[in-house]
Amino acid sequence: MYQRDPVRSLAETRHEFGEHGGVNMSVEASTTFTVMQPNTMPEIFAGAKGPDKGGCYLYGRHFNPTVFNLGRQLAALEGTRAAYCTASGMAAISAALLTCCNAGDHIVASNAIYGGTYALLHDFLPAKANITTTLVDINDEAAVTRALKPETRVIYCETLSNPTLRLPDIPGLAALAQRHGARLIVDNTFAPVVVSPADLGADVVVHSMTKFIGGASDIIAGAICADEAFITQLMDLQLGALMLLGPTMDPRVAFELSTRMPHLPLRITEHSARALRIAELLEQLGLKVVYPGLASHPDHARARCLCRPEYGFGGVLAIDAGSQDKANELMACLQNEQAFGYMAVSLGYHDTLMSCSGSSTSSELSAVDKAAAGIAPGQIRISVGYTGAIEQRIEQLEAALRTVGMV
Ligand code: PLP
Repeated sequence: MYQRDPVRSLAETRHEFGEHGGVNMSVEASTTFTVMQPNTMPEIFAGAKGPDKGGCYLYGRHFNPTVFNLGRQLAALEGTRAAYCTASGMAAISAALLTCCNAGDHIVASNAIYGGTYALLHDFLPAKANITTTLVDINDEAAVTRALKPETRVIYCETLSNPTLRLPDIPGLAALAQRHGARLIVDNTFAPVVVSPADLGADVVVHSMTKFIGGASDIIAGAICADEAFITQLMDLQLGALMLLGPTMDPRVAFELSTRMPHLPLRITEHSARALRIAELLEQLGLKVVYPGLASHPDHARARCLCRPEYGFGGVLAIDAGSQDKANELMACLQNEQAFGYMAVSLGYHDTLMSCSGSSTSSELSAVDKAAAGIAPGQIRISVGYTGAIEQRIEQLEAALRTVGMV
């Protein structure tokens, strides 16, 4: 399926040495940059004379070299011509959407998406910007086609949706978007390295780097990966969503994240291998488990095609404990008695994180929309960590399941 290996692309990214030849790049912690010739200021300000064209960097909210270098790593990871990093995943998503849509425009989005994105599309954008969204089952091609309007500018979905772990037909959606003159935006937060949406035809890939890319649950960050024209548009002086709304990444954060990019593929491989082991075990024990690596998953055949086999099917799985009370009982036992992981939202951490989606990260959805998205009240999302021995984790899990009477 893929012509390109993101690990090779990352290794081929130009290495940025530190100021004194350090193996790590330096942190450019200046918010403003010195213009040596006063008559060059207007062109520098207009973006016509950047550091690569005889000018210099101007101001940190516009471009910062350290943030820019992290963007180069993100572009290499996702196989896009350019990328730029933001203060959060939500900043990346909202800036990407506002770049594609003006007041009166329309979006067709998957009904299975992160709760914050749902609220942005369902509540915020219609109220604040007159940009409306039709939420559909993104795996139902006829429903997506029916939802398209002349003013549709974007088709939006997540690879391995949060929390239902559905995998859309990204090449099919990309073709549909192109035929309609719209853009396909894919949130690839759950599947960096595993799936490369841009290689499959997506126009824009967004990330919450807060998750797997950061890997330590200590940094809130995001990224937008796209072609150069799109990234430049984000910085437009009159209409640039990043330039004017200002959710800029701090260069110190960019430096931190840049040091974690080289081991992202190793971490993902281990997250995925352990998630598969645990999903198989849970299925053998007769539990209702959702994991794209299982043959029972509705999109398993597509996942075998769109996921890179060497990195597995991602580090997140979901189980249905039957009710919210049972889910809470199980999570409490897993955390407080077995030390299997932590009851916390978010994912991609080195330890296991568990949350009941319906009452946490999907609580923005109405009861009807939760049901349409397939989120059961007892559904626990588990981001499988890689600390400890896997046999030890399996013993802890089995013990907790016995304690709460689920096996
Ligand atoms: N996209 C997905 C799929 C998410 O799960 C989240 C957060 O949970 C976000 C975006 C938002 O990211 P951030 O918290 O970095 O703004």
